[in-house]
Amino acid sequence: MAEIFEYAPAPESRSVVSLRENYGLFVDGGFAPAESGETLTSLNPADESMLATVASAGPADVDRAVTAARLAQENVWGPMGGVERGKYLFRIARILQERSRELAVLESMDNGKPVKETRDVDLPLVAAHFFYHAGWADKLHHAGLGTDPRPLGVAAQVVPWNFPLLMLAWKIAPALATGNTVVLKPAETTPLTALVFAEICQEADLPPGVVNIVTGAGETGRALVEHPGVDKVAFTGSTAVGRGIARAVAGTDKRLTLELGGKGANIVHDDAALDQAVEGIVSGIFFNQGHVCCAGSRLLVQESIADELLARLKERMTRIRVGDPLDKNTDLGAINSADQLRRIREATDSGEAEGAERWSPDCDLPSEGYWFAPTLLTGVGQSHRVAREEVFGPVLSVLTFRTPEEAVAKANNTPYGLSAGVWTEKGSRMLWTAERLRAGVIWSNTFNKFDPTSPFGGYKESGYGREGGRHGLEAYLG
Ligand code: NAD
Repeated sequence: MAEIFEYAPAPESRSVVSLRENYGLFVDGGFAPAESGETLTSLNPADESMLATVASAGPADVDRAVTAARLAQENVWGPMGGVERGKYLFRIARILQERSRELAVLESMDNGKPVKETRDVDLPLVAAHFFYHAGWADKLHHAGLGTDPRPLGVAAQVVPWNFPLLMLAWKIAPALATGNTVVLKPAETTPLTALVFAEICQEADLPPGVVNIVTGAGETGRALVEHPGVDKVAFTGSTAVGRGIARAVAGTDKRLTLELGGKGANIVHDDAALDQAVEGIVSGIFFNQGHVCCAGSRLLVQESIADELLARLKERMTRIRVGDPLDKNTDLGAINSADQLRRIREATDSGEAEGAERWSPDCDLPSEGYWFAPTLLTGVGQSHRVAREEVFGPVLSVLTFRTPEEAVAKANNTPYGLSAGVWTEKGSRMLWTAERLRAGVIWSNTFNKFDPTSPFGGYKESGYGREGGRHGLEAYLG
């Protein structure tokens, strides 16, 4: 085996973040405690230390936020016109860039993801989403959505914890560009960057009520999506919660988009460039600790190259550096919460119990915080739970196939339909496979590439509607 180099620690400084001890709800341009006085605590999953307490919004707080959003939409933001709205979005985008180091460090502390990723992926994409949609604000009548597309009104937006600020950007940027106002609820374990975003709205002089942030757990989200005063619901999260929201919204006038779970297949054909495929497999499942809806969590490898590919993959996995998320060398950070760690352990154990073989490289996991080593499950059958259900952690299930037809059949044998990857030297095979895969996004000879111009979304239990690109605007226009 090749020599593994030790890296000296390269910690990013926490001092670039100035956290307050308590955060209120951001409603109508200002921060205020919840009417009930209830709070939640946000922990750093890497060491279980307390970062801050945030207000937990109840129905009365949600009602206040929806009312503020309604007034702002009807009196200010809707009538304003695209050129002016665009200026605000450009201003927000620039402030996000200026404060990107602070936000990258805070996101890493609140979520557990490596600062290398928040710095190089999350924050650049967050700013890019605001720049991209700022450009659309005065060109909506050229978007192919009719000559006079109109905003829907107030958007209720609920996001998960895996990409807290990026999911906020995916939601808020298109809503604002199209003249809607928003009430957004971040996830209970990762509310902090959304609250700094609220400060950025103040810094950008965004009119009060255009963006409202209500923190809280699932019940706050429920009160928001079920509020009769919202015109549009945009949800990203688990399929189970998405199903409940679809039920709650059915029979109302509310428009709904759902971005839910996935069980993406990463298909490696026998003619693929193996070292590149190994990099793509690693990024497909170990990026963001595997807390990625479109993760390549099922590796489908052609039988004739399976042994060689797995040997190279294991060798590569021994070089994944697991540990302090704020160390700039870290590849795999902390699991976001004790609950998520329990779910990952339970799912992985079930894989072993059903007959899969489990392998992880030797790695010293920190004694405090929530950690899970990068893990391979080989010999996985299609009926195994780890081949069917989302693990949402750094766990790769490996299956094999003999023919391209079998690869497609196995890849599509899932209730989900969000993402897939195809690795082959042959353009014709790539296109043949992509045409037959039922997934919203298909990457070829790469994985986990995102761009605000490109629509993202799923089929089947991965949800409906698209976010990003021209298609994403449609979800906010009537
Ligand atoms: P989750 O569904 O438990 O929670 C998501 C959000 O919904 C949180 O803010 C939560 O507080 C809120 N919520 C919970 N119950 C609610 C209710 N009854 N009504 C309204 N809101 C409610 O999901 P999670 O565990 O936070 O996130 C992980 C899931 O998100 C995974 O399944 C993942 O695949 C999915 N996800 C999908 C995409 C996508 O674009 N398709 C992107 C990121 C994550």
